[in-house]
Amino acid sequence: MSDWLGARRIINAYGTNTRLGGGLMAKEVTDAMAAAARGCVEMHDIQAAASRAIVDATGAEAGIVTAGAAAALMLGAAACIARLDPAVMNRLPDSADVANEFIVSRSQRNMYDRALRIAGGVIVEVGIPDRLSGPGVRDASAGELAEAITSRTAAVFHLAGAAAEPSLSEVVRVARARGVPVLVDAAAQLPPAENLHRFITEGADLVCFSGGKAIGGPQASGILAGRGDLVSSALIQMLDLDLPESQFVAPMEFAPLNQLRYLPHHGIGRVAKVGKEEIVGLVTALRRFVAEGQGARTARWMARLAALQPAVPRATLTPDRAKPGLTLLEIAFADREAAERADVALRMRNPPVHLDASRIRRGLLAVNPIALDDADLPALAAALKECCA
Ligand SMILES: *Cc1c(COP(=O)(O)O)cnc(C)c1O
Repeated sequence: MSDWLGARRIINAYGTNTRLGGGLMAKEVTDAMAAAARGCVEMHDIQAAASRAIVDATGAEAGIVTAGAAAALMLGAAACIARLDPAVMNRLPDSADVANEFIVSRSQRNMYDRALRIAGGVIVEVGIPDRLSGPGVRDASAGELAEAITSRTAAVFHLAGAAAEPSLSEVVRVARARGVPVLVDAAAQLPPAENLHRFITEGADLVCFSGGKAIGGPQASGILAGRGDLVSSALIQMLDLDLPESQFVAPMEFAPLNQLRYLPHHGIGRVAKVGKEEIVGLVTALRRFVAEGQGARTARWMARLAALQPAVPRATLTPDRAKPGLTLLEIAFADREAAERADVALRMRNPPVHLDASRIRRGLLAVNPIALDDADLPALAAALKECCA
């Protein structure tokens, strides 16, 4: 309950938002990280072990642990541009002389896609998101996407989500026909746990997930999973390569690295290095996430909401439409101003309480159970009773 380094600890009923410190790690995960902190290992060996665990969980050919999903996007983009060419790896983010364009449906543009540009990517937008305009019903079409693919195309970028258009399967169909990979940002697409497999099954060549969101891994961890050659390219562009060339032997999991003409220098991903502690923590959390199963996880989350509901009897249990398996405890206020007053009052408390305020314009606040500590439930119930009842 205490403060850390003088920073005030909050009660996080918003969710696994990075701004609020992400989620919480189970003791098994922090124990594994503590143990990893007391030993050393060759980083490509521990990434090979992580790859085996990620392959088990996702069905992909290979996987690596990255410093967050945004880092996974940057590395995935670097892999799509450089492939297995060490000269291109050494030049990134300078990419003018190679295929460096990422085709994106305009409605899927978002501030995380800057990661593609950091790697040297150039974003090419397609379509008009007219369905968001009121009268319109259409968005980018698969045909428009197909026509945008040229010899300059490094990949098609897809932001996963129930509302994404064109759908991933349409994107995969046109991209495959033209021989370009599809890179998917699925950072926050868990739950449901099936999504660990889903995008790979639908034909994505690379998929990025956050480790610090629902998986329950370290806040600064993520996953890049997909085709062996592309994941291997991403890995070699992240590893520290201060070693004599002859000493580097690619683990079997990253066998495509044996095709490199020579060993590149530190790659573009060296600025987003991941520690052995994060790798061990993420893999431990991922195994737990898969083993627990969505039914048990949902029940654990629902028990928290059930403990809180008596504090605000008018609150309603509302399934999160974007995340099957997640239910929120939603509190409706008379108007936006009333919701804002309650939100401020909650955040002024000691400890401060943060509720999900993403629908505050509609006068709604909600308790999201994912990042809550069970030990905080009595204090949170008291805060809800005082500020929201
Ligand atoms: C959270 C998020 C990211 C970034 O994930 P990190 O693990 O915090 O780097 C990228 N894309 C989307 C859509 C996200 O929701």
